[in-house]
Amino acid sequence: MKPLLFDNRFIAGLPADPVSGGGVREVRDALYSRVAPIPVADPRLLAWSRETAALLDLDEADVTSPEFARIFGGNALLEGMQPYAANYGGHQFGHWAGQLGDGRAISLGEAVNAAGQRWELQLKGAGPTPYSRHADGRAVLRSSIREFLCSEAMHHLGVPTTRALSLVTTGETVVRDMFYDGHPRAEPGAIVCRVAPSFLRFGNFELPASRGELPLLRQLVDFAIRRDFPELQGEGEALHAQWFASVCERTAVMIAHWMRVGFVHGVMNTDNMSILGLTIDYGPYGWIDDYDPDWTPNTTDAQGRRYRFGWQAKIAYWNLTRLAAALSPLFATPEPLQEGLQRYREVHAAAERDNIARKLGLAECGDDDIALMEKLHALLHAGEMDMTIFFRNLADVDLSMLGIASLADAFYDAGKRDAIEPALADWLQRYARRAADDPLDIEARKARMRAANPRYVLRNYLVQQVIDRAEAGDESGIAELLEVMRRPYDDQPGNERFAQRRPDWARDRAGCSMLSCSS
Ligand code: AMP
Ligand code: MG
Repeated sequence: MKPLLFDNRFIAGLPADPVSGGGVREVRDALYSRVAPIPVADPRLLAWSRETAALLDLDEADVTSPEFARIFGGNALLEGMQPYAANYGGHQFGHWAGQLGDGRAISLGEAVNAAGQRWELQLKGAGPTPYSRHADGRAVLRSSIREFLCSEAMHHLGVPTTRALSLVTTGETVVRDMFYDGHPRAEPGAIVCRVAPSFLRFGNFELPASRGELPLLRQLVDFAIRRDFPELQGEGEALHAQWFASVCERTAVMIAHWMRVGFVHGVMNTDNMSILGLTIDYGPYGWIDDYDPDWTPNTTDAQGRRYRFGWQAKIAYWNLTRLAAALSPLFATPEPLQEGLQRYREVHAAAERDNIARKLGLAECGDDDIALMEKLHALLHAGEMDMTIFFRNLADVDLSMLGIASLADAFYDAGKRDAIEPALADWLQRYARRAADDPLDIEARKARMRAANPRYVLRNYLVQQVIDRAEAGDESGIAELLEVMRRPYDDQPGNERFAQRRPDWARDRAGCSMLSCSS
């Protein structure tokens, strides 16, 4: 494997925990702890992403070399790597949880590619750190397959996300009680290498603020602006205000993408919110099959369903208010932070309009179009219709005929289909009138819709099938599904089976519609 150039600015520029190595502890006045991955029995490369490898100037020969599996399984370090775990806190399910930190993620360093881009490499599941609390620092194969595939699928769908370079099995088992109900089992272990310009989360700022460590907070903010937001100019409070507004804008854009493609994060705690507005920490996430704004895949959140699909925008806003509270000691008055939050509302509203225009194939979204989309959402919900299939096939409805034949695949329930059909026909008529008034011609409308409404999303059951096969020894499903997800907006003749609605058997099956935080 060829060497990578490392420039570890986080380590070089910020205060470290004076103690090094593992051992669970409270870490004050420091933003990270030096800790090395713990070697595993038999690291073996299971899957990799060629696009993410290319970001690091790595090719197939590099990635398939035996050295690669050793490094990205945690058994060796490349020259220049300086592993560490970051110290952060977070609001979990609405409550301040104190110090959390990277309990099973170990950053290896910041690689700089030939184009000068900086990519932090991070192993997830590489062993315990000072932040592991009661847990083992490891990850199971099923959740690692889920993170690997979804990181790359999201990227190809055009959603801002951390990336996944590799998936390595460890040759060791990990014990997990999947639904925390007294049924622990030994599962195969794995390690994903995640890649992002920065893994800083809201929680990295909340923790020093909660402890009154204000010089440390200020230092981290200035560092993050210099390293991760080089486009921002100015100084002092004005610069900090611009930065917060930028975090708000990016967060709004990310959430709008989630809503466009039907992604439910599942655990929007503030320690899982990236300051770069990247989707981060793929745990009990899920994809909307039948349109239901109240759905969450996360059984750990079944009671209040705080992180349900339809609440993601307001939860993101709440999370930003937590970040604003953490940053408030840096500001003489609250106005700059309030303006940042206002930016969130504006950018979110504009992005929602953009989603409506693109999903319905309109040049622009007028006020009436918001109501048109709201009505459609209500119909999709009441009629139990598949979100992805409906929007994708809507482009193919002949608006001069108004038949719902091309939408037939979207229905999960024949009774509900019959009940909703008249109302849906009314809606289609309304939509046909609107489309006829629009400056876009038919072909332009269809092209716009096909670029916004994917044919393929990473349906929960598809990933579960890949996991079942991999656990039974057939690993080929991972690369197969990744290949489909590389072109989610193409029709891909021959791959129709990946675009079908969720089969009945998957409706209430673990892994397909129910997931927990146990991973
Ligand atoms: P999550 O819900 O995955 O974002 O995790 C919340 C916190 O728990 C983070 O601080 C994680 O590092 C930590 N954590 C989750 N799973 C483990 C594990 N198996 N070992 C150590 N820490 C973990
Ligand atoms: Mg997390």
